[in-house]
Amino acid sequence: MRVFIPRESTSSETRVALIPESVKKLNDLGIAVAVERGAGLKSYYSDADYESAGAELVDDRAAALSSADLVARVRKPPPEEIASLKSGAMHISFLDPFNESALIESFRAAGVTAVSMEMIPRTTLAQKMDALSSQANLAGYFAVLKAAERLNRVLPMMMTPAGTIAPSRVFVIGVGVAGLQAIATAKRLGARVEAFDTRPVVEEQVKSLGAKFIKIDLGDTGQTDQGYAKELTPEQIKKQQAGMAKVCAQSDIVITTAKLFGRPAPKIVTEEMVAGMKFGSVIVDLAVESGGNVVGSRLDEEVQIENGPRIIGIGALEDRVAVHSSQMFSANIFNFIEHFWDAESKQINRDLSDEILGGCVITDGGAVVHERFKSD
Ligand code: NAD
Repeated sequence: MRVFIPRESTSSETRVALIPESVKKLNDLGIAVAVERGAGLKSYYSDADYESAGAELVDDRAAALSSADLVARVRKPPPEEIASLKSGAMHISFLDPFNESALIESFRAAGVTAVSMEMIPRTTLAQKMDALSSQANLAGYFAVLKAAERLNRVLPMMMTPAGTIAPSRVFVIGVGVAGLQAIATAKRLGARVEAFDTRPVVEEQVKSLGAKFIKIDLGDTGQTDQGYAKELTPEQIKKQQAGMAKVCAQSDIVITTAKLFGRPAPKIVTEEMVAGMKFGSVIVDLAVESGGNVVGSRLDEEVQIENGPRIIGIGALEDRVAVHSSQMFSANIFNFIEHFWDAESKQINRDLSDEILGGCVITDGGAVVHERFKSD
């Protein structure tokens, strides 16, 4: 079997799907790896590193795409490249399948087995392949650094002969993987941290990190069997906004991470809440790629509100720590391949009755096989 890692096609993408360490591990399984020359440069993995790990460096991308048994990348492929893949090949990447029906159709028509990293089930067994989590963790970390750098204040309390500086206040809205890491990072930097999530189970986790959980009684909320938040009713959203306005007004940094799997993110921070925030404060909207939690946040922009906060809406903040985000993503890809590798047939098992494969394979054998994406 031959795996191919092309350079990412989105110019802003800094990650690479497989790092040299994973190349070596795949080689050890008997799997050959080809890497497009320069694929790792933006994440500081050199061609020489790949070569010494055992990868073949490739200049002819088109030929490599059409001959590979498995293509892995971080972002969805450019549509025109799908038809050139070998029929029966496997393609693994984030696919944004809820918004990419044309891409799914191209995979189906090409006879490719398309694996969507977003759809890896959230089970204990699949945790090692869960790229949404591995990337969200780093995005949560970097959101705090980004906010701290733009804040023009310090985060910890400082008692000095020149006077005492009070700790900055950080409010994290949405305490999933990214939110928990944002809380932990802000605490490490000495900030006073508060947090809110609609899933009540989160309260204990927030407290265990030394932060304060903001209680807002929204009535019945809860979570899905995959651990994702359920969508709130319009009345619940209003209650939540009222409960949060005061906390936002007192905060120096607000970090929003609230997402709804497969649907646009809920708008939580309203125009009035933004207007009520302090001059010089900072909002980081980590949900900006799926529509944003903050009214006025714009993808890949920083918006300075007059006499108010600066709203940072940079998508995929994990890109900014590309060495480690690539390392984590690469481990997810390697774990997937290793888990399904059949050493006897020297092929990847494609038994769709397997819970993980059934969850993340979208097209296979010329058909859309995933229930959620069948067009009937
Ligand atoms: P996510 O990125 O979908 O959402 C981030 C957070 O936003 C979630 O905690 C969600 O409850 C919250 N949220 C949604 N709407 C909100 C609103 N209106 N106001 C405030 N908060 C709101 O979630 P995630 O980070 O991917 O993870 C969700 C849960 O799944 C977490 O408990 C996580 O620990 C769990 N998880 C489990 C596994 C596993 O078991 N293998 C793997 C990953 C995550």
